[in-house]
Amino acid sequence: MTQMETAAADDETFRQALRAWLESAYARFVRGWPGGADPRNLDFRRAWEDTLCANGWSGLGWPREYGGRALPLSRQAVFHEEHARCGAPLGVNLIGHGILAPTLLHFGSEAQKRRFLPGILSNREVWCQGYSEPGAGSDLASVRTRAEPAQGGYLLNGHKIWTSFADRAQRCFVLARTDPQASRHKGLSFLLVDMRSPGVRVEPIRQLTGEAEFCEVFFENVRVPREDLLGEENQGWKIAMAAASFERGTYFIPRLVRFAQELRQVRALALRADAYGRVPASSAAVRHRWARLAADSHVLALKSQRALAGAMRGDPPGPEGSSTKIHWSEAHQRLLELSLLLLGDDACLADGSADPCAAGLVHAYLWSRAETILAGTSEIQRNIIAEQMLGLPKA
Ligand SMILES: Cc1cc2nc3c(=O)[nH]c(=O)nc-3n(C[C@H](O)[C@H](O)[C@H](O)COP(=O)(O)OP(=O)(O)OC[C@H]3O[C@@H](n4cnc5c(N)ncnc54)[C@H](O)[C@@H]3O)c2cc1C
Repeated sequence: MTQMETAAADDETFRQALRAWLESAYARFVRGWPGGADPRNLDFRRAWEDTLCANGWSGLGWPREYGGRALPLSRQAVFHEEHARCGAPLGVNLIGHGILAPTLLHFGSEAQKRRFLPGILSNREVWCQGYSEPGAGSDLASVRTRAEPAQGGYLLNGHKIWTSFADRAQRCFVLARTDPQASRHKGLSFLLVDMRSPGVRVEPIRQLTGEAEFCEVFFENVRVPREDLLGEENQGWKIAMAAASFERGTYFIPRLVRFAQELRQVRALALRADAYGRVPASSAAVRHRWARLAADSHVLALKSQRALAGAMRGDPPGPEGSSTKIHWSEAHQRLLELSLLLLGDDACLADGSADPCAAGLVHAYLWSRAETILAGTSEIQRNIIAEQMLGLPKA
């Protein structure tokens, strides 16, 4: 057996053991959830994430000296795939596990790693990402939140917005301006702020789905100790850009597994709709859309595999991620629009309906409106493709 074949066989053994554990553990967790499980509920998501962490399913890629399992990327990918396959939802500390932990491992001092990694590993500390502001979203370098030198550290003042899970987070990594005289990208620093500090105010924002997953965050004279600066002062832009690339290779895996699952649900819905005499599954409108979505699902899986292979080889992140982001988010919206067409007027009542599949699809439809905005809007991704892949002049 070649080395690659041995690794693939080991990955397969890992997959089978993980699948067996996930299926029984998640089924037990769902049965034990009081009042009926709802994978959209944030308390449910947090509690399941706690269960994963308590059973050693966090810090998969971290070095062993920090409590991690030092698993290769191929096996981390298997985890993300199997976790989504069993129907379990994403957690609420995604930002802590997926973005902050690898950033700390790369840029943190030894003391910072020892202080912050255990809280993420156990899920005791949830992290949020304080980048966007009312005047700084796509143009992130316009951040105006100010961190001024104060005794032993900084005094933080500013207003962040769209901060996911801020009302549940114990800590927030904040991009703040430490040198207003420097050019836009050069005067920013990356601060690890304690959300329990005096002067932090969090106001949840209600979304289209009825939930409030993101918030406005106000910092009013918040003291941030010097030891909570990550990297060097005024190096925040470089760290934020690197942080954005750490999930490369695995970010789309759970989303694409879910895409394929929803595609199957939509097919079942189309066949049922036939029986109810709504838009028939045999109609050209449904067949054409479904065929295109099936092709999207296949092509997206290939793009995700290519990204994973690139990350495993250690290739630097490129603009291809922008093409996958646009493709996934826009195809996902089309998929869920089709589900609404098939549900017809019932979509309006689906939330309270006894059909969890219909309720899940309507909820996903409403949520999907955000997917072409978060993590870089479609227009911004198109700019990246135009400039970096097609060599067109800067807009
Ligand atoms: C569900 C969700 C969760 C989020 N979570 C977080 C979080 O945890 N932390 C955080 O910091 N942020 C978060 N965000 C914010 C997100 O990063 C921003 O919404 C996004 O970067 C867009 O910024 P904006 O909303 O300020 O829109 P703007 O930048 O004001 O854009 C408005 C419109 O103008 C277009 N536009 C802007 N500039 C250009 C350009 N140069 N060329 C062409 N078109 C352009 C945009 O595409 C968009 O259509 C979240 C957003 C969502 C929807």
